[in-house]
Amino acid sequence: MSLAICPGSFDPITKGHLSVIQRAAKLFDEVIVVVMINPKKPVGCFTPDERVDLIKRCTENMKNVRVDFYAGLLADYARITKADAIVKGLRAVSDFEDEFQQALTNKQLNPDVETVFVTAGADYMYLSSSIVKQIGELGGDVSKFVPEVVYDDIVKRIKKKG
Ligand code: ADP
Repeated sequence: MSLAICPGSFDPITKGHLSVIQRAAKLFDEVIVVVMINPKKPVGCFTPDERVDLIKRCTENMKNVRVDFYAGLLADYARITKADAIVKGLRAVSDFEDEFQQALTNKQLNPDVETVFVTAGADYMYLSSSIVKQIGELGGDVSKFVPEVVYDDIVKRIKKKG
């Protein structure tokens, strides 16, 4: 059985994330989407529990996908779960340098796990949680960018915080 993990902040999940998760679920037998804390953006709009809940609702119909939270290092989480691969999404060139550095560092920390890059569907390649929050805070329509099942909850929270 092959196992992949899809790590990220998911603050909140977008259609870009979901597209990456769907691709991972096609390539691997089992997928764990893991919400992690990015030290560069420690204070989120959504709590880790809320992010996990939103992702669970979006992936309910994907039988080989589970959702988890981990507060430590990704390389350690990959070791604990015995993951074969870390699946990351690449947006434009802007993501490349950072992702390249992370992939090489993770390989040093845990030589047993490979990083695999996929792209999101063309419609969502530019999308980020930050853009969704910016649009939502200013009262814009984010329905095109976040999965329908969690749209109401995401809009309510972003407006409250904005
Ligand atoms: P962000 O907060 O920038 O949206 P995350 O840290 O939650 O991103 O991202 C988790 C993973 O999902 C990363 O590998 C990121 O590159 C990827 N990702 C996020 N949005 C997209 C997208 N629209 N297309 C491709 N990959 C994406």
